[in-house]
Amino acid sequence: MALAHVLGFPRIGAQRELKFAQESFWQGVTNEAALRETGALLRARHWKAQADAGLDFVTVGDFAWYDQVLGTLALLGAIPARFGFVPQRLTLVEYFTLARGGKQHFAMEMTKWFDTNYHYLVPEWKADTEFNGGVDWLFEEIAEAQALGYRVKVALIGPLTLLYLGKMKANDRGELDNKVETKVETKVETKVDPKLALLPNIIAGYKKLLAQLQVSGVEVVQIDEPILALELENDWVQAFPPTYAALKPAAPPLLLTTYFGEVKAHAALLRGLPVMGVHVDLVRGADQLDTIVGEWPQDKVLSLGVIDGRNLWRCDLDSVLARLKPLQAQLGDRLWVGSSCSLLHVPVDLKCEDKLDTELKSWLSFATQKLSEIVALKLALNTNGLSNCSKVADAEFIASRAALASRKISSRIHNRLVQKRLDSITEADAQRVSQFNTRIDKQQAKWNLPLFPTTTIGSFPQTQEIRISRAAYKRGDIGHLDYLDKMRNEIRLVVQKQEELGLDVLVHGEPERNDMVEYFGEQLWGYAFTANGWVQSYGSRCVKPPIIYGDVYRPEAMTVGWSQFAQTLTDKPMKGMLTGPVTMLQWSFVRDDQPRETTALQIALALRDEVRDLERAGIGMIQIDEPAFREGLPLKASEWKHYLDWAVRAFRISAAGVADETQIHTHMCYSEFNDILPWIAAMDADVITIETSRSDMKLLNGFGAFSYPNDIGPGVYDIHSPRVAQVDEMERLLRKARGVIPDRRLWVNPDCGLKTRGWPETYAALENMVTAARRLRAEVEAELKAA
Ligand code: GLN
Ligand code: ZN
Repeated sequence: MALAHVLGFPRIGAQRELKFAQESFWQGVTNEAALRETGALLRARHWKAQADAGLDFVTVGDFAWYDQVLGTLALLGAIPARFGFVPQRLTLVEYFTLARGGKQHFAMEMTKWFDTNYHYLVPEWKADTEFNGGVDWLFEEIAEAQALGYRVKVALIGPLTLLYLGKMKANDRGELDNKVETKVETKVETKVDPKLALLPNIIAGYKKLLAQLQVSGVEVVQIDEPILALELENDWVQAFPPTYAALKPAAPPLLLTTYFGEVKAHAALLRGLPVMGVHVDLVRGADQLDTIVGEWPQDKVLSLGVIDGRNLWRCDLDSVLARLKPLQAQLGDRLWVGSSCSLLHVPVDLKCEDKLDTELKSWLSFATQKLSEIVALKLALNTNGLSNCSKVADAEFIASRAALASRKISSRIHNRLVQKRLDSITEADAQRVSQFNTRIDKQQAKWNLPLFPTTTIGSFPQTQEIRISRAAYKRGDIGHLDYLDKMRNEIRLVVQKQEELGLDVLVHGEPERNDMVEYFGEQLWGYAFTANGWVQSYGSRCVKPPIIYGDVYRPEAMTVGWSQFAQTLTDKPMKGMLTGPVTMLQWSFVRDDQPRETTALQIALALRDEVRDLERAGIGMIQIDEPAFREGLPLKASEWKHYLDWAVRAFRISAAGVADETQIHTHMCYSEFNDILPWIAAMDADVITIETSRSDMKLLNGFGAFSYPNDIGPGVYDIHSPRVAQVDEMERLLRKARGVIPDRRLWVNPDCGLKTRGWPETYAALENMVTAARRLRAEVEAELKAA
């Protein structure tokens, strides 16, 4: 009999109950008991959903008050010493201080969990970090689940993944230890990561923890080692067998889970590890099954992640069943079926959706629905096929077939116009008419911009007033003309301020947009928006990614009216503002019935038409934002080229339909581009603006060394802080930039959009920025004259 389980369930609650409980606790509106009660309620509800669906275990340990990595550190007692908290007596308030910072402490660093949009808190390691045990919250949760009568599987982050994801810190300010960060060469010429020196400590900590779990009657411990899906360095791979050999004696049966990618390279390692079983992701690593299954040991469980934990489409149950059926003879009850990874990355319950129509809903499966899909597979495996399986499972199979059939033929999904456009794309469509050198001369002749031209990234402060008008319009409380009037007034104000400030290239300020993806998605065919499809991004912050279900088609212009209006208000160039194809894709749930790159291309074609319409309407500079460009990189570096090739092509197709005189800008945040600079250059934007101020322009060095050919605007101040940057600071950064970028190629701008800032600090900072640019300009022009 195959068993069924999930690797984890979303913790936020179908109505984001956890978020609201956290926030009102932080604001002091409710007390700790109330927060704890909400947590317990959510856990009980989520376990009940798992048990009711018919899973063999409920998963305990996937809950977290803020983040599961921080939770693991709290459990092991390995919290950063710089906070001065006693690990064994860590309070919930202190736990939140670790995550969010406090009066005397800055928060732990946060970063993306593998290639998801979930952010975890980065462990801070020191050479003497100990793992002597911490809070007993996990044990309380186990007791809760057991009291409710459930069979308990505990989910834990594995020791090697935890260690790997942390950073060595030199001092109590949490700064990076540069000496320790670089790897040391040992005698045998293999490199060993200094973090691995902590291995004996961390093993000791896990040993103690696992022994306690053993005592508390836990049946299985799921131990997550997703780093195996990376192209993992050899020293780390080699650490697996001894680590797990050391853990085994005192531990409950361990199920080692891998996910987010295939682990073929480690097939032999996984077969040999002293664990009860191994889980592999068959959604992301669909073709690894044969390699893994071949010679699979007689005594080991193989758990197959067949239900997608990263996307929200109903599974094609028939084809998964057909793949699993032959394995059943070989594996018997050692075959488990589950979600590919934790369901943390999908919304909670489709039943809470009242905004989507029945047809669209019939194609989808959120976390709660996925439980039933998994159980249906298990039941179909355990009986001989369907109809004698169970009514509920039968219903799942029938729904799966219906969804598949209707998605194949639905005219909402397949649009002949789009197909024809796709087929007609030629290589010329991805090429500007002339090379950059020719283009920039024509652009300069047209605009006659000064040296070091100043501009901004697009948005201006989104005041309460703007938000209120937008919401009122959405609700239908104010009419279209009223709304138009309000937004136009806002644009007038923004243009007037920019004129006053003396900026060289203006923007309209984006008051009509609440979100850079949603704004466009709502105007494109093929996109749908949920009412409640929330997914945790970090802490109490949740996002509601749109769903791309069909061919993307632009029925009419999306931004032309706004930009055109803004251009009438000024003689200076007004930049049109669009969100690029890769970002539109990256921040959405994407259809799974065609390659992602095809969907990207469809979006690119829609944007290409918008770019041309803007040009036709007299907008001579158009910015296509791609903040998520880097984020799309696959986990395995060997797969980067394929992604970068299609991502660059999609961008070029969106941008290249214009005349030489039209200036294409792009903007990206987090500018760690050193390893992908050839592709950034290949995007061939006339101007790129990037985030560099927080790194003190260090991130710009790569562009210099690479001789990045086109114009570039390194951000000269950090917009994430309300502090007003001074003229001297910006001037200093600009001088640094001049050391790397030729004067004629250098622009001056903030790091990112200004929508989260208030007006007073924005105005003051931009005033200083313009002054800094003018000072430098005067100096260089004087030098040029003298020469
Ligand atoms: N144009 C957008 C803005 O200014 C860019 C946002 C971003 O880079 N994330 O808001
Ligand atoms: Zn940005």
